[in-house]
Amino acid sequence: MAEFALIDRLRQRAGSRPDVALGIGDDAALIEPPKGQQVVLAVDTLVEGVHFAKGVPASAIGWKALAVNLSDLAAMGAEPAVALLALTLPTDDTAFVDEFATGFSALADTHRVALVGGDTTRGPLAASVTVMGYVPKGKALTRAGAEAGDDLWVTGTLGDAAGALALWKSGIPMLRTGVLRERLDRPAPRLGAGLALRGLATACIDVSDGFLADLGHILAMSGVGADVEADALPLSPALLDAFPDTTARRALQLSGGDDYELCFTAPAKKREAVQAALDAVATPATRVGRITEGASLRLFDADGLPLALPPRRGYVHFIEGGA
Ligand code: ADP
Ligand code: MG
Repeated sequence: MAEFALIDRLRQRAGSRPDVALGIGDDAALIEPPKGQQVVLAVDTLVEGVHFAKGVPASAIGWKALAVNLSDLAAMGAEPAVALLALTLPTDDTAFVDEFATGFSALADTHRVALVGGDTTRGPLAASVTVMGYVPKGKALTRAGAEAGDDLWVTGTLGDAAGALALWKSGIPMLRTGVLRERLDRPAPRLGAGLALRGLATACIDVSDGFLADLGHILAMSGVGADVEADALPLSPALLDAFPDTTARRALQLSGGDDYELCFTAPAKKREAVQAALDAVATPATRVGRITEGASLRLFDADGLPLALPPRRGYVHFIEGGA
């Protein structure tokens, strides 16, 4: 493969930052982290046929490969800085790489993220991105700090990306799914909200596998339970328009993945402060329940009647193989 020509195309759109002492072109990149900051690292891989379908535009793959990683930094309350890109391509396809770079750099430039290195190999199509960011020492948001009595919040709306995927799987052309498809292909990581929640949220996670599954991680790591009002989950008009009410509210919103919203907890006495902080970064947020003592996750409808938890709460790799 004309690997160097491909790398050069990526390098041209890599961006630069003062904390990058050495970027693409040497054996490794050199970064100078600002004083007093902790380095935050995350990696996520998108594989064709697993995380995106064959035929998804390369620009959307480029965008999403970075977006899912920036979402992890958002959930930590971190500010992103640089990324590494490991790209596996079936062929030496410069048009694909250019289009991929268009999507990747559109999001990278928005958040001042520089591409500082990577790896380019031949094989089944996959993009693995590593991101690095900063958070002031001790200020990171983790999954572990939720306490009984805390409010449970969610940003944006839930279920839209899963709705787009369900429409596509049922044979409805993606073009007709408009807003929902945008949510699946080009998720917007909630970086501003993550920063705004420093010092306010007691625990935080990004919703990638499904709301109940990801909330479950906060509960397990914090050693608490939660009472959730299912009918309070933020629902987009587009999702309600495309699906029967029960499908939207009882399946897609609860268990659908790929939302990349933030699910977080905060003390009830910080309610106004949370609302004001998120208003200031134009991020809608909804209170959907509260944290309880014990370890149980309980769902209720709008009348306060208990609902059964769905059997499968999110996406799990390797479940069929039992690995
Ligand atoms: P090495 O053999 O030393 O690992 P490579 O030939 O793989 O170096 O890469 C050369 C340079 O190009 C390195 O700086 C590497 O980080 C960068 N690079 C390779 N592939 C990519 C990519 N997909 N995106 C960004 N940078 C890349
Ligand atoms: Mg080397």
